[in-house]
Amino acid sequence: MCGIIGYVGANDTAGVLLNSLELLEYRGYDSAGVAFHNGKDISIFKCPGRVSQLRELVGDHNGSCGIGHTRWATHGVVSYENAHPHQAGQVTMVHNGIIENYRELISEYSLEDRLVSTGDTEVAAILLDRFYSGDPFAAISRLTSTIRGTYAFAIMFTDRPDEIYAVRHISPIVVTRTDDECVLASDLMPLAAFSSRYCILPEHAI
Ligand code: GLU
Repeated sequence: MCGIIGYVGANDTAGVLLNSLELLEYRGYDSAGVAFHNGKDISIFKCPGRVSQLRELVGDHNGSCGIGHTRWATHGVVSYENAHPHQAGQVTMVHNGIIENYRELISEYSLEDRLVSTGDTEVAAILLDRFYSGDPFAAISRLTSTIRGTYAFAIMFTDRPDEIYAVRHISPIVVTRTDDECVLASDLMPLAAFSSRYCILPEHAI
C-alpha cells in the first residue's frame, strides 16, 4: 500500500511533495520519487530507500507542479528503474495498485524494446503515451479500458504545464483545493494541512 501525492499551486511544490510523502510513510514503502514540471520540462528524482534520501537528491530543484510516490513493490524488484515516477514520451506517472494484464499488453503492443523497468506501471505509461495525441481525457479513458487491475494514477503531460490528471479504480484518491492550489493524495494525511474539506475521486472519473 504505497502513497501518492500531487500538487498544483502557488506554494513550494518540492516542500509540499516531500513533506506529504513523509506523512504517507506509515503506509510502508521501499522506494520514493517525485517529478516536477517547470513549465517546459519534467524532471524526475527517485531512489530505492527513504524519503529522507530522496530529499537529499532533490536538493534545490523545484517546479510549478508535481507528483510524488512511495512504492511498495508488487511487480519487479526494488530498484531505481522500478521506482516511480515512470516516464514515456509526453507522459510522467505514478501508480498505486497492480496492472494484472501487463504481460499480455507487452506482447499485444510489442512494448518489450521500450521497457526500462521490470514492473507493471511502466507498461501503462508507455501505452498512455501511445494513446495521447493532445487530449488527456481521451487517452486516459482509452488506457483505463485497456488495462485490468487496481489503480490510482497521478499523471503529468510534458506539453501541459500546471495540470495534473488522476484516475482510479479501487485504489483510493482524495482531492482538496483552496483558492490557489489543488492537492490530491492516496489518503487524507497530507490534505489536512490545506483544508478540512475534501472529496473522494469517484471511480473512473478523470
Ligand atoms: N505495482 C506497482 C509497482 O510494483 C505499484 C506498487 C505500489 O502500489 O506501490 O511498482
